[in-house]
Amino acid sequence: MNTLTVLGTAAPYPLPDRPCSGYLLRAGGAEVLIDAGPGSLAELLRHTTLDRLDAVWLSHLHLDHIGDLLNAYYALAYGELPVRSPLPVYGPAELGSRLAGFFGLPDVAPLSDVLDLRPLSDRHRVRVHNLELISRAVEHGCDAYALRAEADGHSLVYSGDCAPCPSLDELAAGADLLLCEANDPEPTPVHHTPEQAGALARRTGARQLVVTHVGPLLDRFEATTAAEAVFDGPTSCAEVATTIQVGIHSGHHGGTLPGQIPGEAAGVPCHE
Ligand SMILES: [Zn+2]
Repeated sequence: MNTLTVLGTAAPYPLPDRPCSGYLLRAGGAEVLIDAGPGSLAELLRHTTLDRLDAVWLSHLHLDHIGDLLNAYYALAYGELPVRSPLPVYGPAELGSRLAGFFGLPDVAPLSDVLDLRPLSDRHRVRVHNLELISRAVEHGCDAYALRAEADGHSLVYSGDCAPCPSLDELAAGADLLLCEANDPEPTPVHHTPEQAGALARRTGARQLVVTHVGPLLDRFEATTAAEAVFDGPTSCAEVATTIQVGIHSGHHGGTLPGQIPGEAAGVPCHE
């Protein structure tokens, strides 16, 4: 079964019971951590262990998406976990120099026993077991990527952080599950509004929209309602501890979707 478990959605800083961006994708026999925002690692450990992860995929290098990669490094290096090969980490090319700077190292080589950094580029593709990961460069004012994950004939598209852009439209075409940020109340060059998230889902023929990364100037449930009004399709709000089946959809609008599995701590419907 292909599933996406929400670990965190807050921006730009973690809140009580609401870490920053992080998602666990289980598909095609692989487990991939998508973004590693502050707080998301502890939430991840409710569902799996670091030594079971096959890869980490990071959309961009803003702190709210990568902060817990440092904690993951410390866990893997010093946490007495089962020995594993270096964890593949896909992310912007500058990740290595950022990590080296944090650790006060001239380069990232001393970390390579633990993390295997693999730079992303536009149209980057990699197969992890039977899961295909396709990255596209998107508009966020920095080196930033959106992700399309495909396995067993089903697809998940994650916007990362970005403004509407042609590459995201191409990547998102016909996605079974579109996970889109809705950070800003008004259009900007770096983020989506809720209405733009809904328009993307409508334009690209998404089967299901999940709204995430709703910024501090918006209420996330109202944002979800605003996105749903434009999309006119199954729409929900990303809630921590909720697991969503990728590729299961119906004509149901709003609230918890039939493909949505309440997590260990029950998922909260977006609006009832
Ligand atoms: Zn962000």
